Amino acid sequence: DYKQGGYHRVLIGDTLQDGRYKIQLKLGWGHFSTVWLAYDSKLERHCAVKIVKSARRFTQGAKEEISLLEKIHSTNIDSPGYQHVAQLLDHFEHEGVNGTHVCMVFEVLGESLLSLIKRFKYRGIPTAMVKKVADQVLLGLDYLHRECGIIHTDLKPENVLVYVPNVETLLQDRFHIHGAETKPTSDEGDKTSTAATSEPSILEQVDTKGLTKNQKKKLKKKLKKKIQHRRKTESTGNRENKDGIVMSSVLDFTAGDQDVNAYENIVVKIADLGNACWMKDECNHLIQTREYRSPEVILGANWTEKADLWSLACMLFELMTGEFLFDPRPSSKYSKDDDHIAQMVELMGDTLPPRLKHDCEFSHEFFNKDGNMLHIKKLRYRNLHDVLEETYRGEDKLDLLTQFLTPMLQLDDEKRASAASIMNHPWLQD
Ligand code: ADP
Ligand code: MG
Repeated sequence: DYKQGGYHRVLIGDTLQDGRYKIQLKLGWGHFSTVWLAYDSKLERHCAVKIVKSARRFTQGAKEEISLLEKIHSTNIDSPGYQHVAQLLDHFEHEGVNGTHVCMVFEVLGESLLSLIKRFKYRGIPTAMVKKVADQVLLGLDYLHRECGIIHTDLKPENVLVYVPNVETLLQDRFHIHGAETKPTSDEGDKTSTAATSEPSILEQVDTKGLTKNQKKKLKKKLKKKIQHRRKTESTGNRENKDGIVMSSVLDFTAGDQDVNAYENIVVKIADLGNACWMKDECNHLIQTREYRSPEVILGANWTEKADLWSLACMLFELMTGEFLFDPRPSSKYSKDDDHIAQMVELMGDTLPPRLKHDCEFSHEFFNKDGNMLHIKKLRYRNLHDVLEETYRGEDKLDLLTQFLTPMLQLDDEKRASAASIMNHPWLQD
C-alpha cells in the first residue's frame, strides 16, 4: 500500500507543513490513512495527524470528511454534545513521492472501545462505564443529527476513542517524549506502531480458577474461536496480531490497568467521520459495518439518521456482554443478509412494516408477497430480555436495560428512538 496513490511513507522525525508538525510515533491506521503523533511547534503541543492515501477517490473522500468536520466545528461549540465528537484542528496537503496526501490534524485521543472490550476479555466492560459511554455517545449523536445535520453511518467500538486527560504528561512519563524531542527510533512505515507494546495473550490471561481441566479446555477453545472470528470481522486498526496478541494502544492511558476505578474519569469521543454524510442528501447506498448494520440498510431503503441509533444499540449490547448482538452467517440455503434479517425479526418480532418488506430495492430478495421470508422458513423467536439474561454477567437490572435498548432496536426506523428522545432514559441515571 506504500505506492503511487497509497499511503505516504513517513519516517520518525519527518516534518510536515513547512516544519510545523514533527512526526514522533505511529498511533494507528485505517484503510484510508495512517495516523501519527506529531508535535505542533506553532501551538507547542502534541496532535494527531491523519495522512490520507493519495489516490483521487481517497483525496476526494478526505475533502468531504473535512467539510463535515468543519461543520461540526462551526455549528455550536457550546453544545454539550460537541465535546463528544473528535475535533478537527487543522488540515493541509502534503506532496510526497506517492502523490498528494490530504492531512487532517486532530487532538490526540487514546484507545478505542474495541481495545477496552478486549481488555475485559470479551466478558463485557463494567456497567457503570457503559452507562457513561452511552450517555456521552448519545450527546455526540444528538449534536451531529440535530445541530449539524450529519449522519455518522459507521458507529462501532473501533470508532469511539477514549479521551486522554493529560497527554503531555503521559507522553513524558511513558515514552520520554518532551515537546519536539524524540527518541532515536525509526519507523519504516510498517503497519504496527513502534511504541505499541504486546500484552500477554488473552488466552493466557483467562481466569480459569475452579474449573476442571476439561472445562478449561472448552473455555479456551471457545475464546480462541471468538478471537479468530473477531479478527476476520475487524476492518480497521491493527491491535491484534496473528497469535491473538493484543497490541495495547499507544495511548492507553491506564497502562493496561484493569482496575475499574482507573476509568472513573472516562470521557469518550465519536471519531472517524470518513463515511459520514449529510442528512439532507437522499441516500440508500450500503453503509455501516456488518454487525452494526440496520434492517433498512440491508433492504435498500432510503435510510436516515436513525441508522446510527441501531448501531448504537448493537454497540452498547456488545460493551455490556462482550458479544455481538447480531452475528449472521450464510449457509448453502440462505445468504448472510437473509440470516441477518432473520435474526433481527427473531429478536424483535415480526414488526417490519410493509414499506420495508415490499417497497425497497432489495425487499423482493428477502420476502414473498405474503410478507414471509423466502429462504428461511422457520424462525426461532426470542426476546431481548432473555438474550441479555443469557449473555450478561453483571449485576444491572435487566428490565430497565431492556427498556432502554428496545426503542433503538425498532425494526421500523420511523418508530425508532432518536438520540434526543432516549437521552434522559432512567437506565442512564440508575
Ligand atoms: P480511517 O478513515 O483510515 O479508518 P481513522 O480516522 O479511523 O482512519 O483512524 C485510523 C486509526 O488511527 C484509528 O482506528 C485510531 O486507532 C487512530 N486514530 C485516529 N484518530 C486518532 C486521534 N485523534 N488520536 C489518536 N489515535 C487516532
Ligand atoms: Mg476508521
